Amino acid sequence: MEIRDMTALELGEKIRARELGSIEVVRNYLDAIREEGETASAYITVSEEKALAQAKRVQERIDRGEQLSPLAGVPVAVKDNICTKEMRTTAASRMLDGFLPPYDATVIERLKAAGAVILGKTNLDEFAMGGSTETSYYGTARNPWDFDRVPGGSSGGSAAAVAAKLAPYALGSDTGGSIRQPCAFCNLTGIKPTYGSVSRYGLMAYASSLDQIGTMGRDIKDCAASLALISGYDPLDSTSVMKEPFDFSGIYAGYGGAQGLSAGASAGSSGSLSGIKIGLPKNYFETGISADVKEAVLGAAKTFEMLGAAVEEFEIPAIDYAVPAYYIIACAEASSNLSRYDGIKYGFRSEQARDLSEIFYRSRSEGFGREVKRRIMLGSFVLSSGYFDAYYKKALQVRGLIKSSFDEAFSKYDMILGPVSPTTAYPIGGQIEDPLAMYMADIYTVSINLSGLPAAALPCGFDRQGMPVGMQLIGRAFSEAALIGAAQVYQDNTDYHTKFPESRIGENKGKRPEENVRSRKGGQDQ
Ligand code: GLN
Repeated sequence: MEIRDMTALELGEKIRARELGSIEVVRNYLDAIREEGETASAYITVSEEKALAQAKRVQERIDRGEQLSPLAGVPVAVKDNICTKEMRTTAASRMLDGFLPPYDATVIERLKAAGAVILGKTNLDEFAMGGSTETSYYGTARNPWDFDRVPGGSSGGSAAAVAAKLAPYALGSDTGGSIRQPCAFCNLTGIKPTYGSVSRYGLMAYASSLDQIGTMGRDIKDCAASLALISGYDPLDSTSVMKEPFDFSGIYAGYGGAQGLSAGASAGSSGSLSGIKIGLPKNYFETGISADVKEAVLGAAKTFEMLGAAVEEFEIPAIDYAVPAYYIIACAEASSNLSRYDGIKYGFRSEQARDLSEIFYRSRSEGFGREVKRRIMLGSFVLSSGYFDAYYKKALQVRGLIKSSFDEAFSKYDMILGPVSPTTAYPIGGQIEDPLAMYMADIYTVSINLSGLPAAALPCGFDRQGMPVGMQLIGRAFSEAALIGAAQVYQDNTDYHTKFPESRIGENKGKRPEENVRSRKGGQDQ
């Protein structure tokens, strides 16, 4: 099997067995990124020298016999809103063009300690605000299944990189769906973990009460193995609550994980889901969902039934209020978080400014893109004294209602199954001029962040144009092991996740329009 055809765990196993060297694997990916990467605009920065140096160090540790992790020596792509020491981190904003963080985010520190090798930083919507990667200052990332369509967002570059086999797995962040929706659009598996389980230290804050880092990969095992590495308590994040990192080792025991199953992961071992109750929110399927997505997700519900789970329909109330509540809360928090970009402390400063207030005003006017400014204005408005009660306070009340409706559902069901997005990936430029339509498309994902719950996105079919469809499996807080176990049984019995857009990559070559050139300029080796 070719290096780029292997999953992250398969690569890790071969590296540990000395059948492959980390440098060889990393070089293989770097060559591919150089040759094919441009077409997907998946990366903003590719760090060839650093990646090779890191691979060399990891290989030395492996050669000394150090037991690192099942993913030691395996490369990873990192969303460019996660700080990497002395490696350019831009949040896809002009505001941070050329910003070199002086420290690593906690997740990066942990990945490095576990022997992971960072290939580079992936494209995203500016400051993770968006669902298509079209708001990136560095040009739109492309969907490897059809380069004229969006890869989703905001972690669209991470998804494009993994789907185009330009990285075996990737880190993303999910504030309102940004891991799950690009996974659904690009036929990948992803996990948005429970709020508080993964440190946010070093993640550029968008909406702090919703943001969570998670993993995106080719299958649930890769996602589980990488999530285990980055999870666990961090004193540098005041919302970090989980004492010990996740232990999913039973799921990938064959790949150097410890033997023996962790409690909730038992579903994965038995190959059956009997005893598991899955709720299917029927009001998710009533209006606004494309017929193909509906059919694929309901088909997945049937598969879960065949695998032994009890699937029952129910209704989640207040769903109509989830998107408005989310956008009020997210924008309010963003307006506060983004106030730090003032032209003085970080990144971009306008050259036109003549005095202090002009430094603030002009740097922010020139440094932020349209969508970011729209959200800062919206957020400042809902927090202003005359409107606070009418909007922000109401949104928090709705958040409480949504959370209790999930609590109630989880008193009856172990998991909830639903679509990720009402449609499959749409053409580039198709929605960007209509922000409200873009916001509405987040209907199935945002309530999970408002409630702090974990959810896994899993491939479950294709639409009539051959574009992938994703579903999400939602669990109780901190029930990741059970979720992953159920996802594992599903993937053991289906092959959607094994499909890649290979045939389309050749077809798509040369489709890159000029505006994407910015994603490469100055993007190498920083
Ligand atoms: N599309 C949503 C938004 O624009 C979600 C973004 C995210 O999860 N980072 O806010």
